[in-house]
Amino acid sequence: MTDHYPTLLSPLDLGPITLPNRVIMGSMHTGLEDRAANTGKLAAYFAERARGGVALIVTGGYAPTRTGWLLPFGAKLTNRIEARRHRTITDAVHAEGGRILLQILHAGRYSYWPLSVSASSIKAPINPFRPRRLTSWGVRRQIRAFVRCAGLAREAGYDGVEIMGGEGYFINQFLAERTNRRTDEWGGTPAKRRRLAVEIVRGVRAVGGPDFVISFRLSMADLVERGQRWDEIVSLAQEVEAAGATFINTDIGWHESRVPTIVTSVPRAAFVDVTAKLAQHVSIPVAASNRINMPETAEAILSDGRAALVSLARPMLADPDWVRKAAAGTADEINTCIACNQACLDHAFVNKHVSCLLNPRAGRETELLLSPTRRSRTVAVVGAGPAGLSAAVNLARRGHRVTLFEADDCIGGQFGIARLIPGKEEFSETLRYFTRQLELTGVDVRLGVRADVADLTGFDDVVVATGVRPRVPEIAGIDRPNVLSYPQAVRGEAPIGTRVAVIGAGGIGVDVAEFLTHTSSPTMDLAEWKREWGVCDDEDANGGLSVPQPSPSPREVYLLQRSSGRIGAGLGKTSGWVHRASLKHKGVHELSGVNYERIDDDGLHISFGAERRDLRVLAVDTVVVCAGQESVRDLADELLSAGVTTHVIGGADVAAELDAKRAIEQGTRLAARI
Ligand code: FAD
Ligand code: NAP
Ligand code: SF4
Repeated sequence: MTDHYPTLLSPLDLGPITLPNRVIMGSMHTGLEDRAANTGKLAAYFAERARGGVALIVTGGYAPTRTGWLLPFGAKLTNRIEARRHRTITDAVHAEGGRILLQILHAGRYSYWPLSVSASSIKAPINPFRPRRLTSWGVRRQIRAFVRCAGLAREAGYDGVEIMGGEGYFINQFLAERTNRRTDEWGGTPAKRRRLAVEIVRGVRAVGGPDFVISFRLSMADLVERGQRWDEIVSLAQEVEAAGATFINTDIGWHESRVPTIVTSVPRAAFVDVTAKLAQHVSIPVAASNRINMPETAEAILSDGRAALVSLARPMLADPDWVRKAAAGTADEINTCIACNQACLDHAFVNKHVSCLLNPRAGRETELLLSPTRRSRTVAVVGAGPAGLSAAVNLARRGHRVTLFEADDCIGGQFGIARLIPGKEEFSETLRYFTRQLELTGVDVRLGVRADVADLTGFDDVVVATGVRPRVPEIAGIDRPNVLSYPQAVRGEAPIGTRVAVIGAGGIGVDVAEFLTHTSSPTMDLAEWKREWGVCDDEDANGGLSVPQPSPSPREVYLLQRSSGRIGAGLGKTSGWVHRASLKHKGVHELSGVNYERIDDDGLHISFGAERRDLRVLAVDTVVVCAGQESVRDLADELLSAGVTTHVIGGADVAAELDAKRAIEQGTRLAARI
């Protein structure tokens, strides 16, 4: 079993417990924690991950006091009635041979309600509510609440707790000068700012006893101005160890930081070197986190001693069997988290339950069942984009006999174009996953076949997943050779000049602008990525920041939209700001409220507003059209009129607001139904 990833799969003695391998499932708030009625669903979600072999699970954050909750009526653990309910979770995990810690998270000034508290009364830039400054007595009360919460977690059967000391939450707010302007015993010097953290750990150790696991989540760099310096972080780690922490789980950056830390364009394991540096200063194990999504990356970190453990959060949503597959030497079967945030963090930020774009069962283990069918049918799936792939694989898993037709000579559809965008290379992993699953499930794959009604007769069911085609807007000159569709531009099917206008600034327009302004991929070169975002290794730097130095764009790019308002406003909450900042770094000209008048030898003629004012010409040599898409439905219509049992999914069903999340979920849900 341990041949494949010897260090990753080797046991680790933590003292209170011995872990069978080095993989922790990092804390993620799913939304299920917030309602007692969802405890069973949460238990099933964790149990599935424990069954998949993860050594230690950390729950989403539970507030130790009402003042510290993330949202009014959000998750908290403050009394025995609540603790009793948690037995369902701990029993379910233990029954699968797993271990579980409860994360204690006090949101401080990130709490989204008017009664929040913090070290000082300084409002967070991402929260409209100003926190109340705690009195010295008030600080002590919060410490007691942490300790009581840990005691309740113990009663509830947890193997220990994780104390959230990073990401800009309450404890981190005490640690950094940015948010702690106190001059009493809780502030004024780095040692006094650390006191809250240290007293909490000491109190939790006292209530938990020697066999209780205490993980302390510690920020490796705050990535905000007036954040902690490196020597403060090292001292904190050492003091937390002395106070009784079992291990340190690292994280990086505050929620208000303007440096991306987990989106897909962040290189894999980008922050591991700083974890390795910290590990030299303490004798307890240190866990590395952030953008570790495949076993070979994890093994490389562990085998050269940069960390003792790896913490994977989102990868456990995408594939609950990640560890089991690594152990079996079948890492090519892993459904790799692509760090898109679309169904996890973007959901969490709008108070929707967390799931996964790639694995819609995540968080829905009790309702979205893919059980074996009792009546195997012959099913044709037409189109191997995300919708067709998810339908085909899941239908075959359930025992149906599936034939998949794809007009192109490879699978992927529009997703195959997405993976060519710099910073979206991870999307290739999804196509590798589906390729392997098609083999494993025995789907009969017919590439290079544009299926018609004649090909589809004789099947019990036909699933039409023919997707979308790019919309061609009615603009004079749109058929000129220097006007390219986005597939032509991204696939390199025609030369692109040095001055380019992009028509349409939705998700694809923004991606195409990224494509046009990068010579190399951001995920390929860590040093360049750090320079671009101003992440520095200088130990004296406050918050680990320096001045961003992006490399210049090889092209001058105009990104245009007809509607007024901010470009990229419709992008995901957690990734949109990264794209907007990146386009700013690259000097992209963003124009809203545009009318496209015509394209001719001089370039693209535009005007503004309903009055068509400010007529001007953008002297570009190439125009790339990203004006949305239309459904490819002809086949579906023909099949329906021929009386064939037809199911239409993905872009073929509805093109508006289509994304891979909807396409995959529709494919999976259909497969569960047939
Ligand atoms: P498609 O992907 O269009 O697939 C349809 C397939 O059907 C095609 O392969 C086509 O060749 C085939 N087909 C059509 N007719 C026939 C026929 N008669 N016989 C056989 N085969 C046929 N989405 C996200 O969620 N997140 C992102 O970050 C993201 N980024 C993107 C970036 C770019 C640059 C692009 C282009 C798209 C991006 N998308 C993203 C969108 C996502 O790729 C699409 O929403 C998704 O691919 C739609 O899936 P689908 O299966 O419905 O259709
Ligand atoms: P989109 O987001 O709907 O944007 C289409 C763009 O074209 C808009 O800017 C639209 O706005 C413009 N447009 C529409 N009709 C036009 C016309 N007739 N003439 C000129 N302009 C026109 O679609 P998309 O960019 O093609 O993306 C497709 C899907 O992929 C989206 O649903 C998106 O969510 C998904 N995607 C997601 C991501 C991600 O990171 N999450 C990335 C890429 C794609 P105006 O009318 O204002 O000009
Ligand atoms: Fe990973 Fe995207 Fe799934 Fe979130 S939604 S777990 S980021 S693949």
